[in-house]
Amino acid sequence: METTQALLKQYYGYDEFRPGQEQIIDSLLQGKDTVAIMPTGAGKSVCFQIPALLLPGVTLVISPLISLMKDQVDGLTDQGVPATYINSTLANSEIDRRLSLVRDGRYKLVYIAPERLNAEWFKTAMGDITISMVAVDEAHCVSQWGHDFRPSYRGISSFITGLPQRPVIGAFTATATPEVKQDIVALLSLRRPEVYVTGFDRPNLFFRVLRGEDKPRFVANYVKQNVNQSGIIYVATRKEVDGLWELLNSQGLPAGRYHAGLSDEERAVQQEKFLYDDVRVMVATNAFGMGIDKSNVRYVVHYNMPKNMEGYYQEAGRGGRDGELSECILLFGAQDILLQKYMIEKSVENPDRQNYELSRLQEMIDYCHTPECLRYYILRYFGEQIDDDECGQCGNCCDDYEKIDITVDAQKVLSCVYRLQERFGVTIVADVLKGSNNQRIRQLGLDKLSTYGLFNDRPLADIKILIQRLIATQYLQLTGGHYPVVQLSPRALPVLKGQLQVWQKTFTKRTPAADDGLFEQLRQLRKQIANRENVPPYIIFSDLTLKELSKFCPVDKETLRNIKGVGEVKLQKYGDEFLAVINQYVAEHPPAKAGEEAVTATKPANKTADKTPSHLVTLQLHQQGITMADIAQQRELTATTVQSHLLRCADEGHTIDWDQLIPPEAEQLVLAKIKELGTSLKLLKQALPDEIEYNVIKAVVSKHAQAARKKLKY
Ligand code: ADP
Ligand code: ZN
Repeated sequence: METTQALLKQYYGYDEFRPGQEQIIDSLLQGKDTVAIMPTGAGKSVCFQIPALLLPGVTLVISPLISLMKDQVDGLTDQGVPATYINSTLANSEIDRRLSLVRDGRYKLVYIAPERLNAEWFKTAMGDITISMVAVDEAHCVSQWGHDFRPSYRGISSFITGLPQRPVIGAFTATATPEVKQDIVALLSLRRPEVYVTGFDRPNLFFRVLRGEDKPRFVANYVKQNVNQSGIIYVATRKEVDGLWELLNSQGLPAGRYHAGLSDEERAVQQEKFLYDDVRVMVATNAFGMGIDKSNVRYVVHYNMPKNMEGYYQEAGRGGRDGELSECILLFGAQDILLQKYMIEKSVENPDRQNYELSRLQEMIDYCHTPECLRYYILRYFGEQIDDDECGQCGNCCDDYEKIDITVDAQKVLSCVYRLQERFGVTIVADVLKGSNNQRIRQLGLDKLSTYGLFNDRPLADIKILIQRLIATQYLQLTGGHYPVVQLSPRALPVLKGQLQVWQKTFTKRTPAADDGLFEQLRQLRKQIANRENVPPYIIFSDLTLKELSKFCPVDKETLRNIKGVGEVKLQKYGDEFLAVINQYVAEHPPAKAGEEAVTATKPANKTADKTPSHLVTLQLHQQGITMADIAQQRELTATTVQSHLLRCADEGHTIDWDQLIPPEAEQLVLAKIKELGTSLKLLKQALPDEIEYNVIKAVVSKHAQAARKKLKY
């Protein structure tokens, strides 16, 4: 345990493991086949790279991402980890040279494309090399249920069987559906694998759904407001990518573009420009980005609703890999539903499979309409148990919404569905409410219904949105299949009887972003070094590291070593140049001022300036000695929300009174389990007596993480 943590510091410059990493590393080091399911950006690579450093011989990393291998290997080399790659971009003579170096024991990690595995010459070459571990990255590619099936992944198992000695196998993916998980275990022939599903939460991602925006205008403005930030705009079709790309460029906003209709060379050039920060924004279809590990993507905008939550979360997850606040915005438009249905019908033949895809689409549609917390919607989708109702870090929790009582409108819709005997789809229900005078309505005699024309003064699109909202909030439900029918769900009855009110939130304000002088200078230095060394800037240092540098202003190598992301090799390589810029900045700005500016810059940009964030209001009351129950009452919040506010404050480094959150007898129990099981809240909750609540467990975990952090001296 000591050693793995020391390696994390030495090579990566990080002090603590992220949730799950340590357990996965230990499992692999104990020789157990291991499946690690972690969301994009959670830090999978470390989980096989650290064991690779400790195990004898080499680790083969199988990855489908040929175009990224060079960057990944450059990144490792830059950190002082001996690594190489072998794929079709190399000449045969170069492959031979690399293989002989592998044989000489010069590398710990060898990245290979799965296509190599079937070649006889490759099998022979691997025969006399000690391979301790095979790490299968993007392991869902082995499954036809996944979204990126690669036939060559099916050859991995027989390749491994052909090796003189069976290595331990690690399989890594962000896809969590049971079908995919089963396929990974079966098709990679894993032996009694340990399966780790780490928390799907990405606390630094801020989620927001906007409906009814003028999309091109919104994107152009947004990109303009964030010109210095890297971002991705995902667009559903190639044609729209081209259109939006032209629009941005014509407005003086240099953008890259990426889709399957461009030549290989063109795509490589575009990707490179983005990775090297030559363009800040990439307009792309979902062909872009599998495995992109550019860490400083500050925003991911979805111009269209994707086809399911898995895809959405994976794409959105490309933001904020450095742990810094990043924004994930989905622009919903009603025609997105039609487009996705059409694409499913066109691309999926098997009827069962089609229904499966349609039901996943419906869950995506619900995400776009829920007025409740977006983060918790996502986490529940991925099977996490959440006892809280507000994360305080998403559009639905934070934006200034006006809460409107829409009970009467809801009653009208529900009774219309009832009159239609729950036999029609969204379009017909909307047409009846609108009072549309079309042939189909007349033929069916629906213009005779008492609910016909109840909303004759509203645009049809608004009526459809209202119906979708009622579906997303489970007053209505849809049957599956191609022609889903709207039905009343159990929650509808009390609304119709006037016993339950229905609320809607309406968005009123948007939030600005912050900037910082020293940070900008450090970023320019990073760009210079990156150009000189011909690697993408994030390989030198992540945005997070630059933020920490500008916040703590280390003036010598000793203090520089304490900064997140500064490992030994980078300290020696780049330390002096960065220290020079920082020292000059500190000299030009009196210390107090430098500190002040830096602190403002690190404040999350998600809050409006004139409003204290909700959790900090809770903190103020807590610090005045008011009990949690009283705070809850005073602020009209649930007890759980107050608890989670305080936990968040603790995570942000504020001092809180732990005794109010943790009953004394619970702490020891939870601590004992943490020693045994690690910090997975889910595992802990399962293992502990029912009376110990989720938030108490969370509190103990946070308290001890904070205590560990405090040992560090900045
Ligand atoms: P993915 O799970 O998507 O493959 P990566 O392995 O690329 O994610 O890691 C995402 C980012 O998180 C990288 O910038 C990596 O350096 C960083 N990271 C990984 N582990 C840690 C850690 N323990 N502490 C801080 N940052 C980490
Ligand atoms: Zn939320």
